[in-house]
Amino acid sequence: MMYDIVIVGAGSAGCSAAFTAAKRNFNVCLIDAKPRERVGDKICGNAIGHHHLERIGLEIPEDVKTNEIEGLFIYPPSLDCWEVPGGEYRGMMLDRLLFGQYLLNRAIDAGVELRDKTVAAGPIIDNGFVKGVEVRPNEKIYGNITIDCGGLRSFIREKLPKSFGIETKIEDKDVNIGYRERRKIKQKLESENFCRIYVNPHEFPGGYGWIFPESEYVVNVGLGVRKLPNHPNPRERLYETLLKMELFKDSEILETNGRKQAGGMDVSTRRSLASLVGNGILIAGEAGSIVDPVTGSGNGQAFVTGKFAAEIACDALEKSDVSRENLWTYDLQHYTEKNGYGQRYTPIDAFRDFLQSIKPEDLDYAREHGIIKEEDLITLTTKGELKLSLTDKAKRSFRGIGRLSLLRNLNYVKGVMEKIKDHCSAYPASPERFPEWKEKIDSIFFELEEKFKPYIGK
Ligand SMILES: Cc1cc2nc3c(=O)[nH]c(=O)nc-3n(C[C@H](O)[C@H](O)[C@H](O)COP(=O)(O)OP(=O)(O)OC[C@H]3O[C@@H](n4cnc5c(N)ncnc54)[C@H](O)[C@@H]3O)c2cc1C
Repeated sequence: MMYDIVIVGAGSAGCSAAFTAAKRNFNVCLIDAKPRERVGDKICGNAIGHHHLERIGLEIPEDVKTNEIEGLFIYPPSLDCWEVPGGEYRGMMLDRLLFGQYLLNRAIDAGVELRDKTVAAGPIIDNGFVKGVEVRPNEKIYGNITIDCGGLRSFIREKLPKSFGIETKIEDKDVNIGYRERRKIKQKLESENFCRIYVNPHEFPGGYGWIFPESEYVVNVGLGVRKLPNHPNPRERLYETLLKMELFKDSEILETNGRKQAGGMDVSTRRSLASLVGNGILIAGEAGSIVDPVTGSGNGQAFVTGKFAAEIACDALEKSDVSRENLWTYDLQHYTEKNGYGQRYTPIDAFRDFLQSIKPEDLDYAREHGIIKEEDLITLTTKGELKLSLTDKAKRSFRGIGRLSLLRNLNYVKGVMEKIKDHCSAYPASPERFPEWKEKIDSIFFELEEKFKPYIGK
């Protein structure tokens, strides 16, 4: 069977892409390994920022929302928290399965053909172009253009030939492994409209713990740690840390990661792929690592980039030109537009390298002495820029207690983030100069990784 567009993965990215293309009257095949009724069932913290929804005008039905979120409490090891209300920290908690089912049904109602319980094994390559996918056990589904929305471990991306110029592998060092439970608690949660994040490098090396409220009495509690050799088991770590809090005394488990993901579920925590397009193919969502590298959140980015990828795919089909050159606009917008996720999150990946190297006492120091203030966190996460609120008093105390290396490192990472932002803005207008651009960004990150070695917790 020949389709205009074949989409692999019916997660948020895939359903959004499929809906968009079907609305433009293209015939679309959407493939997912899961049975239809389990589409959307994903291990997740279930939090989403309003700004992603607003970006594409996605309305969420009331029964899919479980709570409104007004802001964030971020706790360093000392638990003296940063309180960040409003703005981009406004959001909601979702019933993840219902959300996925809502996106899927919307796509099917628009005319998309769903092939559920179908595993895509790899791309069909013909004459240097992707022409659809092979599915197990032995079938070919052809499409004029393919959108890979298969998530972090996408078989499509992984099996693309080198000549496509797309990075195929997301390495474990750029992944966090997470475990979460939904729990009913006996005592009422204070400030039930605020999410809580615990950044304690000792307990959650290279990651963080979270308590996200679904209501006063139901929370999603979990953690992620960087997937380095000998990383702690996230489930065990959750039981040794957050679940020891008084809040969880006599609490009841509503949901766990399940048997298959009991040891943890991977989530990408690196910048997006340097290029997300090739002849006959575009990549959206976590398959392209389009996530916030510090938090690993990527649900909003998935449905936004699914839509963007489908719009570009439809434009290309209308022009009967699905070459890499003609799909390049997707990369260009991603890296150069003010709100492009590449422009925003690539500098934040540099901050991740710094953050994952910081000692617990330095984090407490930065909080206690107002070196990183609430407003700095807002600019960091919304614009990918680091502003340092260094008063004279703070500078003096830096010298006084020998924290000059922290100050030097903060200044260094700030400078690198600015350089990366400029480099993103200078993304090449066509693929010819891409290898040069990529070489430079890779060398910037190579240097960063040499400088900031990860702090290994307990
Ligand atoms: C523990 C944890 C907590 C998280 N918490 C949050 C959070 O609170 N907020 C947030 O925004 N993000 C969170 N995330 C990240 C978020 O879940 C992902 O970024 C998001 O789901 C990515 O969406 P996607 O559509 O790109 O990919 P996915 O949701 O991974 O969807 C991919 C789809 O492709 C299908 N698929 C994969 N391979 C194949 C194949 N070969 N053949 C057929 N089908 C295939 C899968 O079945 C799946 O349905 C969390 C992740 C984890 C692991």
